[in-house]
Amino acid sequence: MGKTKIAFFDVKEYDRKSFEDANKIDEFDIVYLETRLTQDTCKLAEGCDAVCVFVNDDVNVSVIDKLAEMGVKLVALRCAGYNNVDIEHAYGKIHVVRVPAYSPYAVAEHAIALLLTSIRRIHKAYIRTKDFNFSLNGLTGFDLHGKTVGVVGTGKIGRIFIDICRGFGMRVIAYDKFPAQGSGIDYVTLDELWERSDIISFHCPLTDENRHMVNSESISKMKKGVVIINTSRGALIDSEALVDGIKARKIGAACLDVYEEESDVFFHDYSNHIVNDDTLARLISMPNVIVTSHQAFLTSEALANIADTTLSNIREFFERDTCSNEICYKCANLSNCKQEHTKKCF
Ligand code: NAD
Repeated sequence: MGKTKIAFFDVKEYDRKSFEDANKIDEFDIVYLETRLTQDTCKLAEGCDAVCVFVNDDVNVSVIDKLAEMGVKLVALRCAGYNNVDIEHAYGKIHVVRVPAYSPYAVAEHAIALLLTSIRRIHKAYIRTKDFNFSLNGLTGFDLHGKTVGVVGTGKIGRIFIDICRGFGMRVIAYDKFPAQGSGIDYVTLDELWERSDIISFHCPLTDENRHMVNSESISKMKKGVVIINTSRGALIDSEALVDGIKARKIGAACLDVYEEESDVFFHDYSNHIVNDDTLARLISMPNVIVTSHQAFLTSEALANIADTTLSNIREFFERDTCSNEICYKCANLSNCKQEHTKKCF
């Protein structure tokens, strides 16, 4: 059998470097493509065994059908989240693997970096001192010690975030659809979390059920001045409702590494263009909003782990019966995927 051929969509300079390092012995034939995977670009995967995709590649019904028709056997996500893949439609047609953990520290630490930057006004102070403006007016922050942080999603990233928060002397409460028994985490209902938290941080996957869980109703239950951190997926938050909440001075600050309409904007340089998304432009214009462009994962440790795990997922799929990091709609819903990752899901 020849080398496994992979169409690598939406490549960036840093991806290419880490994957070239991981593929030093040229085990795989990787075709690097700058374009995102869409219905129109999927024909570029003709003749490939697998496609490798990231968070903003749209693996929808028609893309899945076309890939399967062309004989592509595997969608290898080089990320943990898989909300951009219609895994129910993929079942029985094309297998899907992901990188469930590459550096949960990278994401949790970025969430903390955003929080500290925001509440201590570091983003403002940085610009001021660059201009030799040493005034402190308007830079008053608040102590994290003694504040209550509400964590939504207590998986790998959420738990590291919780540990760091505890190090700051914060009180931690959490909500998870599947609470971790015996973890010592103080689980509360979502309503209680909205009502009691000074800071709320999201670390759960995006599903149909929790899309726009931050909306005008949930915002109305939150404390005045609450700080919202989202390093998870943009559509957990209704952006219009967020803007309204900030304008009404209900939300004290927002730290956003993800945005619901990010796919057309994030990862690109639009510094010489007019961005058409008015909601994003409004958010960025606000002094108490910090936006990073889906950067939380971006550490050298995480990139190396992503490349190693993605290539080992692909190797395992084509060489063995097992597929440790496969995800199908059955195992994703914790319902009845009989294979339990000891075999391929179908
Ligand atoms: P994980 O699977 O280890 O943990 C997710 C947790 O969320 C689990 O405990 C699960 O029970 C819980 N959960 C599932 N559905 C829920 C719901 N409806 N409400 C509340 N909790 C729910 O995942 P992880 O590795 O900790 O990653 C969490 C999320 O972080 C990912 O889904 C992804 O969206 C995001 N992420 C972002 C970046 C980035 O660069 N910004 C990088 C990696 C991951």
